[in-house]
Amino acid sequence: MPRTVHVVGAGLAGLSAAVRLAARGARVVVHEAAGQAGGRCRSYHDPALDMVIDNGNHLLLSANHATRSYLETIGAEGGLVGPAQAEFAFVDLATGARWTLRINAGRLPWWIFDGRRRVPGTRASDYLAFARLLFASGGVTICETVACAGPLYERLARPLWLAALNTDPKEGSARLAGAVIRETLAAGGEACRPLIARDGLGSTFIEPALRFLGARGVKVAFGHRLRAMDFSEHEVEALDFGEDKLAVGADDGVILAVPPVVAADIVRGLTTPSQFRAIVNAHFRRVPPAGLPPIIGIVNGTVEWLFSFPDRLSVTISAADRLLEVPRETLAQTIWEEVAGVAGLPKTMPPWQIVRERRATFAATPGEDAKRPAAHTRWRNLFLAGDWTQTGLPATIEGAVRSGHRAAELIIRS
Ligand SMILES: Cc1cc2nc3c(=O)[nH]c(=O)nc-3n(C[C@H](O)[C@H](O)[C@H](O)COP(=O)(O)OP(=O)(O)OC[C@H]3O[C@@H](n4cnc5c(N)ncnc54)[C@H](O)[C@@H]3O)c2cc1C
Repeated sequence: MPRTVHVVGAGLAGLSAAVRLAARGARVVVHEAAGQAGGRCRSYHDPALDMVIDNGNHLLLSANHATRSYLETIGAEGGLVGPAQAEFAFVDLATGARWTLRINAGRLPWWIFDGRRRVPGTRASDYLAFARLLFASGGVTICETVACAGPLYERLARPLWLAALNTDPKEGSARLAGAVIRETLAAGGEACRPLIARDGLGSTFIEPALRFLGARGVKVAFGHRLRAMDFSEHEVEALDFGEDKLAVGADDGVILAVPPVVAADIVRGLTTPSQFRAIVNAHFRRVPPAGLPPIIGIVNGTVEWLFSFPDRLSVTISAADRLLEVPRETLAQTIWEEVAGVAGLPKTMPPWQIVRERRATFAATPGEDAKRPAAHTRWRNLFLAGDWTQTGLPATIEGAVRSGHRAAELIIRS
């Protein structure tokens, strides 16, 4: 085990690496450029709404075992809530149809043979055809592998892949979609229960981790942006923060857990994904009506997912680059009209906020997936972490946490 491990970046990849290392008794220092931890998974006080909101709604599934183990370690496993069964409410805005997908608990998918559990208008054989994705190679898209048309695609597969890959299935990687199916639908309902951090991302994923690290003497240096690194042939020798430079001894380790563009700038010769997709979130300060399901999938609308929190309604739209230039007021109005229709609320728009994350995730295309590097590098004491490294999953919390754990394990073994 190295003498000191420098973790650069306090997003979920960096935090999960630091937590794993600190739990094993390693000496860890975390360096974060921003004034707060969490990166793309954070909460903040929004002045327009005068309430704490998340930068984006984050949906997890019960299959996300690394995330759940991370939360258990930091004592926050109770922060994720969701239904006891794998149930997903859907509304089709084109037809007004409403249904609830009910995936049975075991691995044997008998729910697809039950008309009251599967998507209306679909047959069991439609679902079996999607199994082809489980064996897809890295170079093909989803729509080159399976038929991207028909009720199952429009009402379940497209919303699922858009959410999981943040990339239109027409260009999305079949291999990454297959990985999602393998770990969720193919593993049965026990793996598919939707989970959300009801009290916020910060109080579930971030603050308990900072407390855990603080209690173990780990310093988290905020406003400490890494500018460059000094390399010898086989090792990182120094971390250059501009105003200060830290020597990295032969016995020290470095985990670089920054976004791909930053990593490519700092590490010479590193290939990383370089195309991104946006996510738009809209938040409305309106207590949800009683009985509204906590998560609703919406098809044939602008809105894709509607989340009900105790004090607000929030909307997620993935691969939302087409909406980046739409005026905020227009977008809020369009979204609210759909939300009001689904939730049975008045047309008058409550206080709102639109959050557009331009580079929410890397584009999960076959080409970008092929550019993801492994955790180890040609430098003995430098390891990479982040949802964009080669995790085998799309850019998700689970991928970020797995990458952090992997980098920590490699350091412990080095
Ligand atoms: C709006 C939105 C919705 C999402 N929805 C979901 C969802 O529903 N489910 C899901 O699983 N995932 C979702 N994701 C993806 C998830 O948030 C990310 O996969 C995850 O947070 C990535 O963590 P990370 O640590 O890899 O990267 P980041 O969170 O980007 O962390 C990198 C950190 O490095 C810091 N940094 C940058 N440069 C430097 C530097 N030079 N020196 C020091 N520090 C630096 C940054 O400030 C940041 O804190 C969503 C993302 C967004 C944006």
